[in-house]
Amino acid sequence: MKILHTSFECHPIAKAGGLADVVSALPKYQLALDVESLVVMPFYKNLFTDKNKLKNMGNGTINLNGVEFKYFIEKINSEEIPYSVCLVRIDNLIDTEHIYGYEDEKERYIAFQKALLDWLLKCNLTFDVIHCHDHHTSLIPFFINYCNEYIKLKDMATVLTIHNAQYQGQFSHDYINLLPDFSIENIGLLDWDGFVNPLAAGIKCATRINTVSPTYMEELKENACGLEGLLQSESNKFSGILNGIDTCIWNPETDRLLLRNYKISNVTSGKRANKLALCKKYGFNKDLPLFGFIGRLVYEKSADLLTDVVKEVLLKNKNCNILILGSGYEEIEKEITKLKKEFKGNFHSYIGFDEELSHLIYAGVDFLLMPSRIEPCGLNQMYSLRYGTIPIVRRTGGLKDTVIDIGDGGFGICHERASVWDITYSIYRAIDLYKNQKIFRKIQKQIMKIDNSWSKSAKKYIDLYKSI
Ligand code: ADP
Repeated sequence: MKILHTSFECHPIAKAGGLADVVSALPKYQLALDVESLVVMPFYKNLFTDKNKLKNMGNGTINLNGVEFKYFIEKINSEEIPYSVCLVRIDNLIDTEHIYGYEDEKERYIAFQKALLDWLLKCNLTFDVIHCHDHHTSLIPFFINYCNEYIKLKDMATVLTIHNAQYQGQFSHDYINLLPDFSIENIGLLDWDGFVNPLAAGIKCATRINTVSPTYMEELKENACGLEGLLQSESNKFSGILNGIDTCIWNPETDRLLLRNYKISNVTSGKRANKLALCKKYGFNKDLPLFGFIGRLVYEKSADLLTDVVKEVLLKNKNCNILILGSGYEEIEKEITKLKKEFKGNFHSYIGFDEELSHLIYAGVDFLLMPSRIEPCGLNQMYSLRYGTIPIVRRTGGLKDTVIDIGDGGFGICHERASVWDITYSIYRAIDLYKNQKIFRKIQKQIMKIDNSWSKSAKKYIDLYKSI
């Protein structure tokens, strides 16, 4: 079976969040199951593309609203990636340093999809399934089924995975000329609520759609930022497949980004060494429980509540330490940064994206906070489990599917609401648990044994491909 994955992120080439980890790991695990994959993503001007060799695989031109753009397809050769990855480059359009945050986003997404399809046509490349990830590439099912230019590709089945329904890529009909020609009677397939909505178009036109956890699938049918009715009506082709983690990269026994590697038998000393490194770096007392947060500082992740949580916990008594790694809304970043001065010695934050520090935090903290309002799947809790770090999560989306509360015979700390009180209360429960070192250590060992690897879910995706 041959699968084409299309995405705007793939680790280690370019990562902003979980999408990169998923698109990186899924083809790898499927390779072991005899499924051949090609990942096609944009070219980014970054360290990774700079240090690895690129081989040209073709070029051509696309038209964007009357303007011709030349595209280049570059295959990247890296020992870190066991499957094929091709990058689409268009000078001054798809050659940015960062992944998101540019004014011409819709032009970039559309140009990428056009160039990819044009290349497939030119080189006569066929795949059993084109697997589109998120709204950036979700116009492909419409393009190949309803646009003359690409209609020859329509025999290929398509799967759209919704990693996050918050982001739909809507734009005004004024920009319709950016799209390839199609018969106006099909405009309804692109439209949602008076806008061209790429995610909605993907949901309507893909052969199958899925999202990244069973609970998030059910939640989306109730609330999907306006798409819930559409998802209900397309529910016969909609499924929920839980993400997994790449246990080759996320393995405390071999992770080169840790200060000390460890396994279940020496988890206590191993984690202590990594915690000590964090405590030294940030001036924390090593004997107090250490809480970590890693993620985008956005409303979805309840990052706006963190400042009040830190104040609530640390103003009353200073019996724990809290460390935050993330970036996002400027206002939240500012509020969090202010806390460093106020709670020096008990609180620290690093505003930015730091892969290396994130690994050290998963290994070195005692508890990981994930109070998300929305969490389609969440990978952080699975990484933390693998590293013997107890997750504290809100019962939502994939967090509900992967973490069971200690009170229910499980191994984590769960709360219902995204509120300062619920999060604070969970932290108090964690501090109590930390005092009972016998049970705390037993849970650390228990959680490291949980198998959240991609093995099971990679097979589920293959079953989905086979069904179409
Ligand atoms: P998201 O909604 O952001 O995709 P996930 O839990 O699915 O959330 O995945 C988040 C991924 O991004 C994890 O690999 C996490 O470690 C990583 N991550 C998030 N923020 C940062 C950061 N500031 N620095 C390093 N890694 C980060």
